[in-house]
Formats: sequence, structure tokens, C-alpha cells
Amino acid sequence: MGVMLVEPRVGRRMVWAASRVLFHAYAVICIASVVGGYLTAPLFTWIFYGDWRFWRHVRSASLLWAHGCQMIFLILRGQNSGFSLSVALTAPPTTAVDPLLVRLSPRWEFGLSCGPCNRCCSKHHCPILDPRTGLCRGHDSFFWRYFNCGRFPTRQSEIDYYLCPKWELYGTRDPVYAFPSTARSSRTRTPITDESPPASITDWARATVDDPGKCMERHR
Ligand code: SF4
Repeated sequence: MGVMLVEPRVGRRMVWAASRVLFHAYAVICIASVVGGYLTAPLFTWIFYGDWRFWRHVRSASLLWAHGCQMIFLILRGQNSGFSLSVALTAPPTTAVDPLLVRLSPRWEFGLSCGPCNRCCSKHHCPILDPRTGLCRGHDSFFWRYFNCGRFPTRQSEIDYYLCPKWELYGTRDPVYAFPSTARSSRTRTPITDESPPASITDWARATVDDPGKCMERHR
């Protein structure tokens, strides 16, 4: 009997794609059944809060059903490239912006922190945003890493949609995440000025970890 060998990178992409497909199916079941999220509460809060202890998130999690309905309505209206559907199934999960794709706007005064801004969380009243602290309670959760939150922004249309004053597009890696309308295969970077991003994603992550701003909890 032959043994099928799968190249590791292809294997990882298959796992990421399968994870996203399972998430979409789970989200549909939760929204359609209304009670699906309650019946699977530990899984539900692990996905959105990175925490199995569902009793710690009852209040905000109970608002996610209505939020999910709102998101489906906006997706059906074609807004913001489809929100979570705009992330390619095979895109790697990530906890931070792509430093080869975006850079801080020269007009932005708060460094890597989001300062007083929370537009991308509050525009649609995301229940996971803690209104007391202004921090995201789902930082680095499955949803954060696999969908739009952790990687925001990945394209100019997202920056425009949320009127984000902090980031500007730096290169042309946008197509890696674009799906399906602008999908292209190029991974090349085309800087638009002489200013260079950090040398590596590790440098970038280290710089953000050193930053005391609340952006660390929202958009590193
Ligand atoms: S990423 Fe941009 S829009 Fe979102 S909170 Fe930070 S500055 Fe505001």
C-alpha cells in the first residue's frame, strides 16, 4: 500500500483551511440554532476569548449572537470585502500586522499604541471590546489569529472602511490575503518610500511587546 507524503507547508495550509471551514460551519450552526453557542459554551469562549472558562465571559458572549447576525447582514450587503470571509482559507494565522505590508502613518502620534482610537472595534459595537478598559478581551484568541482582528489591516479598503488613522499600506503583499476578487499570487514587496519596516517579524513583535500602549491588546 502506498503512503501519500504531503509537503509540510501544504500540510499546514490544509490544517488552516480546515480550521476555518470548521469555524464557518460552527458559526452558522450557532447563529441558526440560537442556542448552539450556549450548549457549547467552553468551545465558544475558547474560540472568541481564548479561554475555556465560559462563566467569565457570559455577559459579553451573550451579545455575540446578535453581533453575528449583524455581521451576516453586512456581509450579504457586500461591505468591507466580506469581513472574515475576506481572509483566504489557507492564510497563516497571525497575531500581528504584516510589517512587509503596512507601516505607521507619519501623522500618527501614538507609536505602536492605538492611543484613544478604537474605531475598528467600535464601528460595529463589537461586544468583545471591553468598554471599561478599551481593550480587546479576545486578544490572541483563535478568532483573532485566524481572521481579521490580528492581521488588520491587510488592504487599503479596510483602512478606508474603518478610517484607521494609524496604518498605511506599505507594499503589495495585500494579494496574499485578498479573496476572492483581487487574489493574485505575488509575494513581492514594493516600498513606496525609502523608509524600511523592521528587519523581521520577530523585531516587529519585540518592538510591540515593549510598547506599553493599549494597542498591544488590540492591534499589534
Ligand atoms: S487599528 Fe486603527 S482603527 Fe483600529 S483602533 Fe487602532 S488606530 Fe483605531
